[in-house]
Amino acid sequence: MTATYHVKTFGCQMNVYDSERIGELLEAEGYAPAGIDTADVVVLNTCHIRERAAEKTYSDVGRLRTRPAAPRIVVAGCVAQAEGAEIIARAPAVDVVVGPNAYHRLPALLATGGVDTEMPPEPKFDALPPRRATAGHAAFLTVQEGCDKFCTFCVVPYTRGGEVSRPAEALVAEARALVAGGAKEITLLGQNVNAYRDGEVTVAGLIRRIAALPGLARLRYTTSHPRDMADDLIAAHGEVEVLMPYLHLPVQSGSTRVLKAMNRAHTRDSYLRILDRLRAARPDIALSGDFIVGFPGETDADFAETVRIVREVGYAQAYSFKYSARPGTPAASLPGQVPEDVKDARLAELQAAIGDCALAFNRASVGTRCDVLLDRPGRRPGQLIGKSPWLQSVVVTDPAARIGDLVPVDLTDAQPNSLTGVPVTRTDPPLTRAAA
Ligand code: SF4
Repeated sequence: MTATYHVKTFGCQMNVYDSERIGELLEAEGYAPAGIDTADVVVLNTCHIRERAAEKTYSDVGRLRTRPAAPRIVVAGCVAQAEGAEIIARAPAVDVVVGPNAYHRLPALLATGGVDTEMPPEPKFDALPPRRATAGHAAFLTVQEGCDKFCTFCVVPYTRGGEVSRPAEALVAEARALVAGGAKEITLLGQNVNAYRDGEVTVAGLIRRIAALPGLARLRYTTSHPRDMADDLIAAHGEVEVLMPYLHLPVQSGSTRVLKAMNRAHTRDSYLRILDRLRAARPDIALSGDFIVGFPGETDADFAETVRIVREVGYAQAYSFKYSARPGTPAASLPGQVPEDVKDARLAELQAAIGDCALAFNRASVGTRCDVLLDRPGRRPGQLIGKSPWLQSVVVTDPAARIGDLVPVDLTDAQPNSLTGVPVTRTDPPLTRAAA
């Protein structure tokens, strides 16, 4: 009887990538995929970025424990790294705790049970089976892991370790296999992807190498830090055709005083100057950001600076969160912790500003034409949803189209978080003005 497994993913795209690799690893050991309600082994690939995320792990363990045939439970990811053996002490139903840098040892751990949160010298990627080349039309590719920035609110440097870049040759080979397997779009991943470096090869160099692969239509990368936006990377945005005109560049706050307390090592103005250089290189680039409201000591004036930078930049989209004190981070013990109701009010005001900017960005796209990579079904029959080059969601009704198709679309209507479009043939004259 073939043993079965299920991986449940919490958190970021890097966890999505790790979950895919964990699945490949277990299948190479003879396991077959199954649903969470029937699998013999359930892996919870966890996120530790906010309090609520960590607590979700324990409630899931509780649910799994009550299953008629309780599975073997593996806690992987950043909660595993942060809490280690405490997890088994708190939840004895957990068989294995394995950190994000050691999951290549999972088969052995399943035989013995136990905890492995080492940061092993051997790169896990060398010990994993070859990447499954059936990743579909869009694939993630982790190129860098860890972080040396130590923002005072963040647990990642403690849960993922220092910055490590994978060898460029291995990455180009993995990307080639993904394209051969049908990937039209690849997203390069890293906690600080633009800090990538393999000898002389920077992330811009890596982008140029992967962009040259025949058959690849689109290339993206995330997540970046303003400190590592080098000249060659900005130049790549103006010169590499398959590099999509979209950049997620978190800033967290619009107040230089708060940025200092966060140890972000850049100012409001230096951040804005980077965006100016990016827009000079690629005028139609879509910008996205991350924001934290209610960082300890944040005043009304600081917060007003954050709202102002959102409107000044005109983000195509942005993610915003209330500050959540994380155990072991410097900010957790800072004075001036902001009351929850103040955080709630600020978050609502900020999200309104972000919504205005996203709608304005989408409205400016109406009347233009672009290619859309269809990636999921819509709500109505014949309706599909896909992504524009600017990572906008576009709803298209085209019974002839299929998920995975890259189709030319005229954009006809805008909403805050999506656009509506009509499929066209490439020879159709544009609606009003030529698209990018
Ligand atoms: S750059 Fe800052 S926020 Fe991002 S992973 Fe590193 S420490 Fe965390």
